[in-house]
Amino acid sequence: MNGPQKKGLAILGATGSIGCQALEVIRAFPHRFQVEVLTAQNNAPRLIRQAIEFQPNAVVIGNEALYPKVKEALESFPIKVFSGAKALKEVTEFDGIDMVLTAMVGIAGLEPTMAAIQAGKQIALANKETLVVAGNLITRLAQEKGVNIYPVDSEHSAIFQCLAGEFHNPLEKIYLTASGGPFRGKKRDFLASVKKEQALKHPNWDMGCKITIDSASMMNKGLEVIEAKWLFALKPDQIKVIVHPQSIVHSLVQFSDGSIKAQMGLPDMKLPILYAMAYPDRLHTSFPRFDFLNYHELNFEAPDTESFPNLMLAYRALEKGGNMPCILNAANEVAVAAFLKDQLGFLQMSDVIDDCMQKIHFMIEPNLQDFIHTDAETRKLALSLIKKQNN
Ligand code: NDP
Ligand code: MG
Repeated sequence: MNGPQKKGLAILGATGSIGCQALEVIRAFPHRFQVEVLTAQNNAPRLIRQAIEFQPNAVVIGNEALYPKVKEALESFPIKVFSGAKALKEVTEFDGIDMVLTAMVGIAGLEPTMAAIQAGKQIALANKETLVVAGNLITRLAQEKGVNIYPVDSEHSAIFQCLAGEFHNPLEKIYLTASGGPFRGKKRDFLASVKKEQALKHPNWDMGCKITIDSASMMNKGLEVIEAKWLFALKPDQIKVIVHPQSIVHSLVQFSDGSIKAQMGLPDMKLPILYAMAYPDRLHTSFPRFDFLNYHELNFEAPDTESFPNLMLAYRALEKGGNMPCILNAANEVAVAAFLKDQLGFLQMSDVIDDCMQKIHFMIEPNLQDFIHTDAETRKLALSLIKKQNN
């Protein structure tokens, strides 16, 4: 008997934390998945190594200056090599791709994701910023094209798994769990002087720098609240956040009869990546298993929105709608980059975002060009606010 056909995958952001873990999953299931496209921005050596191992049809290196290096290294292989932002979009349309895993960071994912959906490719979505910025455009286009968006983010994968067999049942609310990050329990006087080295030490997850800072500042949870709205068609007051420091309960759904379903497991991104890639199947793995006897307590507490105002800023952006989540995201991307360069304090990140949300022109029904424009304007303002603070 023949097994299921191999699924052709494009991995955008293959050299990052999610991209590398996705390739680990594929290495474990070579009979189920075929790598068609790999992309990176700057990490040419890793992209070359991955291409030699997985033999994709094509690779893209975003940074055009690195094209000759990648091209030369892959000269003797039947692998097409492209570079630049336009190629990142175009490769998602190639025949042979069934699913695009969006694992690049930030708004850079927006246009490639739209192009992939336009071409009718299924999406495994890690790049949450894309949905935060333009959730209305993306979900509308996906509906039009009959494309499913499978969540990779562990919380949203948990909600999706809880909903299996329940899609027709009204849900009352969802609870997104948050670890609380490295500064859980800390107050503003402590946070005022924290440095990137402290913020980059996440207690439970090993992730890229940007999302690790977002986790420390609670912006990650704010972005996830907005991501959940679009993935599961929820109203803001149906989305609750609960801090759960052990990161074992990945999220919960409460149905209209009051019953709650939770999805649990060790914190390992390979699990939600595999679930998104193999859906609706669950494939056998030898990943470590959760042992209840190693965890005598699972704790839950309310988020501290006074010390971590980003969560409230995200709810405000969600309530307001239009281009406000785009403003929130762009200001945050700039603020995080500045914090990582020691140009902005931890608490000032929220001040910059708040300021941008008040000053950038609000639009109720933005199109793609409006989002791109809002993003550029917000970045400009955020940079000037940061510069002013440094003078
Ligand atoms: P990383 O920073 O580890 O990786 C980012 C990837 O995107 C790299 O391959 C990088 O290439 C590429 N990239 C960076 N900038 C650009 C650009 N301008 N255009 C195209 N590609 C670019 O990030 P993560 O893997 O941690 O996160 C990726 C996404 O997944 C984010 O949206 C994050 O929020 C989300 N996510 C991550 C989780 C995690 O556990 N890491 C969990 C849940 C969601 P290069 O290496 O060459 O720089
Ligand atoms: Mg998450």
